[in-house]
Amino acid sequence: MPSLSDNVLTVAQFPCLSDNYGFLIHCESTGQTAAIDTPEASAYKNELKRRGWKLTHIFNTHHHLDHTGGNLELKSDGVLVYGPSSEKIPGMDVGLKGGDEIEFGGTKAHIIDVGGHTLGHLSYHFPKENIAFVGDSLFALGCGKMFEGSPSQFWESLKRLRELPDDTTIYCAHEYTSSNAKFALAIEPGNSALVSRAEEIKATRERGEPTVPSNLGVEKQTNPFLRCDMSAEIRQNIGVKISDSDADVFGRIRKAKDKFRG
Ligand SMILES: [Zn+2]
Repeated sequence: MPSLSDNVLTVAQFPCLSDNYGFLIHCESTGQTAAIDTPEASAYKNELKRRGWKLTHIFNTHHHLDHTGGNLELKSDGVLVYGPSSEKIPGMDVGLKGGDEIEFGGTKAHIIDVGGHTLGHLSYHFPKENIAFVGDSLFALGCGKMFEGSPSQFWESLKRLRELPDDTTIYCAHEYTSSNAKFALAIEPGNSALVSRAEEIKATRERGEPTVPSNLGVEKQTNPFLRCDMSAEIRQNIGVKISDSDADVFGRIRKAKDKFRG
């Protein structure tokens, strides 16, 4: 019998909709299973059935329909829905904010405020397991579009994620990495770690494999949105002014990405 102190969470990752990933996390000792967002109820039901798991929790990162659209269909008896308290989440039982801590599967998740893509966006970080589910805040080699927040809010959010240990495994919600790589290379072509990562990504996608999850240490070396304050090359290519704060630089990079047609 495994004891809770040896607790290990199993993460199941599967494609949903056109380019979302669905995630289920399961604890063998307690039998608890959580959905991280619910892009598509049918894909979750199939995966639960295939693995013989019973859903007990839904952890929503933000209110967008491709993250909450399956909530009500998956919320049968005994399923608790958690999400940002400041956002409208279908079927929500427990509202969360940054700094909260929740128990799941014999372990704990720290809730990190990663607002910017939406105002209340949350990330679920499991420190003991070294994994973080970041939704549409940080992407592999990119970050979410700034639909609701400001550059300073989003930049503070990304800095909170950047403070996590380098060996943290980052689960983001979309397979956008190839197009993110083109933009990253356009503004920091002299970053050799980025050049080799972009080659790896190309090969991974050609094999039809996902580029998610990624490693936070690698993101710090290659993701332009985490490098606003550390890459002279990006700052030069993006046309930074002397009066710009780091958050202004982030805002400029975000704007340049929105316009980029690689
Ligand atoms: Zn979103």
